[in-house]
Amino acid sequence: MHNSLVFVLNCGSSSLKFSLIDAKSHDEILSGLADALGSSNPIIKYKYQGDKKTIALNANAMHQSAVDTIVTLLSDLSLNDAVIAVGHRVVHGGELFTQSVVIDNQVIEQLEAISKLAPLHNPANLIGINAAQQAFPNLAQVAVFDTAFHQSMPAKAFTYALPHALYKEHGIRRYGFHGTSHYFITQQAAKMLDKDVSETNIISAHLGNGASVTAVKNGQSVDTSMGLTPLEGLVMGTRCGDVDPAIAQYMIDQLGYSNDEVNNVFNKQSGLLGLSELTNDCRVIEERAQQGHAGAKLALDVFCYRLAKYIASYTVPLGRLDAIVFTGGIGENSDLIRASVIEQLEIFGLALDEQANLDARFGNQGVITKNSGAKAMVIPTNEELVIALDAIALTQE
Ligand code: ADP
Repeated sequence: MHNSLVFVLNCGSSSLKFSLIDAKSHDEILSGLADALGSSNPIIKYKYQGDKKTIALNANAMHQSAVDTIVTLLSDLSLNDAVIAVGHRVVHGGELFTQSVVIDNQVIEQLEAISKLAPLHNPANLIGINAAQQAFPNLAQVAVFDTAFHQSMPAKAFTYALPHALYKEHGIRRYGFHGTSHYFITQQAAKMLDKDVSETNIISAHLGNGASVTAVKNGQSVDTSMGLTPLEGLVMGTRCGDVDPAIAQYMIDQLGYSNDEVNNVFNKQSGLLGLSELTNDCRVIEERAQQGHAGAKLALDVFCYRLAKYIASYTVPLGRLDAIVFTGGIGENSDLIRASVIEQLEIFGLALDEQANLDARFGNQGVITKNSGAKAMVIPTNEELVIALDAIALTQE
């Protein structure tokens, strides 16, 4: 019997991830995804007590109807009454939000005002907030921002070398993302290192479909690889990460691309997909690379080299490095990528423990280096738990 559950919502433009977290045990009671919203066959897939089930939604159903269906499901499972708060993942908090907040009308206005910084994500988050407010009119709703953890970055790390007016008048600066994950990893790494968070120096590599690396000094973010948008930095599933910004103009002037086409190439056709010319699925790329596929090999080489270079450069703000932490679908599961990155960082005294590297997969955490000052480790991330705990902390006495 549960009596304090948090409903966690992560809304995209045509999808909506949801989960129910028990605030006391921290267990995920139910999780699911409403997908293909607005299409001819939108669907909800969910997992409850080990069973995977689906619910077909009406054609063209959008977020509100998905949330309403989920609420009916919770009611059918007798879980509805135990929900005491709603937590929302919000992608961009600009400089306004340095921590999570209870959502009121003023917060909604502020979120609308900064939506232009994340035009693909924040409007979807606002739709999710509205849908959840309709579905749970008596519950407090909390916004947890992907950017908030990085607001501690110093100006030298977040400022682009552009005319300063672009920052002062238009907010063009590095914000960073995946903050909830990097925050969680910092807390967990401190525990594994047996250190106070305020004395913990790590480099956290969140490697999923999106990927970013963050330098954490004394428990706070001091630099991160994503920028004004989540396009900058590492090689990702379909995003290119760092490129010469003049490539965009070259493609437009010399190759006849439109603005939108360049945007699409950089965001949707690049990264592991673009390099391998196969897929953005890292598992498949690893298999094909082992079979000798040149594109797959190149994709892994560029991915690992870029990541190793970023990690090396983040020792600059840290001074002392306690640990490099791998997380996200790739970071938690790919022993191959971790081994390659650690090998390229030998100069820092890192030596891979091959068996520990194989053991730390599929949800297992652990230290994967031996005989070294700085450690490398694997920690499964849990952004939903951070969102749930913030929602509880801000709404319950
Ligand atoms: P998202 O950013 O969408 O949440 P995830 O964190 O789930 O993504 O990461 C997805 C990536 O993790 C995919 O590229 C997938 O291939 C990769 N991945 C999952 N399991 C493995 C594995 N065993 N080996 C290598 N890559 C894996």
